[in-house]
Amino acid sequence: MTSLNDQESSKGLAAHEIPKLFDPIGKASISLEDYKQAHAESIRDPSAYWSQQAKSYLDWYVPFDQALTGDFSAGDIAWFAGGKLNVCYNAIDRHVRNGKADQVALVWEGDEPDDIRRLTYLDMQRKISQIANALHAQGVRRGDVVTIYMPMIPELPMTMLACARMGAMHSVVFAGFSSEALAQRISAARSAFVVTADLGKRGGKSIDLKGIVDAARAKIDCEDIITSVMVWERFFDQDSETAPYDMQPKDVRMDLLVAGQRPCHVPEWMDAEDGLFLLYTSGSTGTPKGLLHTTGGYALYAAFTTKNSFALEDGDLFACVADCGWITGHTYVVYGALLNGATTFVFESTPVYPDPGRYWDMVERHKITQFYTAPTAIRLLMRYGDHHPAKYDMSSVKVLGTVGEPINPEAWRWYFEAVGKSKCTIVDTYWQTETGGHIVTNFPGVTPMKPGSCTFPSYGIDTVILDPMSGEPVTEANEKGHKEGVLAVRQPWPGMARTCLGDHHRFMTTYLKVYEGYYFTGDSAYLDQDGFHWIVGRVDDVLNVSGHRIGTAEVESALVSHAAVAQAAVVGQPHEIKGQSIAAFVMLTDGFSESESLIKELRSLVRQEIGGFAQPDLICATQSLPMTRSGKIMRRILRKIVCNEVESLGDTSTLADPSIVDELIAKVAELQ
Ligand code: ATP
Ligand code: MG
Repeated sequence: MTSLNDQESSKGLAAHEIPKLFDPIGKASISLEDYKQAHAESIRDPSAYWSQQAKSYLDWYVPFDQALTGDFSAGDIAWFAGGKLNVCYNAIDRHVRNGKADQVALVWEGDEPDDIRRLTYLDMQRKISQIANALHAQGVRRGDVVTIYMPMIPELPMTMLACARMGAMHSVVFAGFSSEALAQRISAARSAFVVTADLGKRGGKSIDLKGIVDAARAKIDCEDIITSVMVWERFFDQDSETAPYDMQPKDVRMDLLVAGQRPCHVPEWMDAEDGLFLLYTSGSTGTPKGLLHTTGGYALYAAFTTKNSFALEDGDLFACVADCGWITGHTYVVYGALLNGATTFVFESTPVYPDPGRYWDMVERHKITQFYTAPTAIRLLMRYGDHHPAKYDMSSVKVLGTVGEPINPEAWRWYFEAVGKSKCTIVDTYWQTETGGHIVTNFPGVTPMKPGSCTFPSYGIDTVILDPMSGEPVTEANEKGHKEGVLAVRQPWPGMARTCLGDHHRFMTTYLKVYEGYYFTGDSAYLDQDGFHWIVGRVDDVLNVSGHRIGTAEVESALVSHAAVAQAAVVGQPHEIKGQSIAAFVMLTDGFSESESLIKELRSLVRQEIGGFAQPDLICATQSLPMTRSGKIMRRILRKIVCNEVESLGDTSTLADPSIVDELIAKVAELQ
């Protein structure tokens, strides 16, 4: 077993020694002062600000006359209503018209590194038109919901864009979800059309997606709702008369159907407030919410944030390695880069296949200019060592992005130094499925960076920290100099979701009625002395130990700074004297095993980094943690386990590995 000394030397700096502030990297055309002024201007008159942006970022078929109508109290927000446009036209056709027909729009790398496809804007326009005609032939009409359950192949973004082209709403269900979760989403959206593929591939393994769709059809009322299941074939053979899967009634061989269509389709001109898509949240905190995003506001916000947060320039190859099943995949794989006329990268595999250098190898081979992933992937790769990124020439990268959770400073530093060679900006982008795009983030070359802080609000976003009890803005700093409370937004922005599908009441009570007059994010946060935003954790997860409010992010960050800890999750458990005590779950790095001395070291690490009051009473070492399939920890399940409320675990349909729950129940029972 590795000794403590080795662990320290392999990590270099201890967590508290990581510098707290980094200067902006590179030169932007504006200074921090300019940003502050421009931001103040953008929130002074949102209607005027976004009206101007909407005209410069998008082509309108019929111009809008008023940018914003409605407000948070009534929940009737609309942007650019009356204006008409088509998002697919904006993402593809106008670039073909403007001299980019032969520019590569999409680079795809499949599960195997040598499986590569490149599609130009013209290729995309033709293929998407064929897909739109194929969908039409199957009965899809404007306003219909098309459920997409597909692997990360180029046909996935193209099917999404074909829906946008014909005015149908896509509802993408992540292809890692079970037949149960898929059936629930088909049924809730009353979606008569399903587009899938026979096979998915990940990490060298094949996944029988069609089989999962068939199983979903047998559930709830799906078979009554569905009229057509369109199946892409992974290895399509034009001459083969039989499908390479077990065909059911209503199944359609999609490649054949598409091949028979004309590569020309007139886009449907949509009202800016018509629905563009439905998407479910990750389900970290409860039952996933089916959110509706609309056409004009979402498209503008996707284009605008991609351009600004990532300093996107003409000729860039933008790589977001999220799956299209998440909002990150919608906004930053499909819509953002294409609306800007850049090239987007679509990745099918995992960060560790065939080895943990996969991302960096891709960056070198394709000359990726922006690379965007999540802290969970960074932590995973960090544990495999610096020699993986060191092997590759990553000088093409300008910006590295992170999203999904607060990033612990140690992972931030590794991303910055081992991956970015201290030459790339790290943008810590805070946002949600509901927000459509980044709402708090730094800007390359403009904002100084503090590892772990998502820094300042994006343009047009008026953030505010509210006192959770009174609902009033926090004006006084606490003893640490922090203005702490819950994060809210004071006025509407174009990218925000408009409603929960079929349940506007839930939308109002979850986001707009909690603190009257504000959009409530559900996250705890504080502003430090310099006004930087720090996300502390989910409101329901914040701990209160002997009167100290402690964020989950802070304690987890201290724990993962130990070389033996790959991931950590902390939750509160009731305590007679302290009110709450802390229970910590730690997933150990390969090569480390559980021991009494390790547990002691972890306790003292938390004491040293935060203080004695934050020391966990219970530390449970485990092989894995309950995570959503998007890689986020489901702390609510851990809380139920430590509180012995295992009968009421709630919605577990988005868990990546449900079997971990029973293991943890047994383990905790042993320790308690
Ligand atoms: P559900 O709403 O169903 O519980 P979820 O909140 O995990 O699921 P998403 O919309 O995918 O679903 O995630 C948004 C949340 O992710 C934010 O509310 C925040 O807690 C967290 N988050 C995202 N980006 C960041 C970031 N850069 N820093 C800190 N937290 C982040
Ligand atoms: Mg959420």
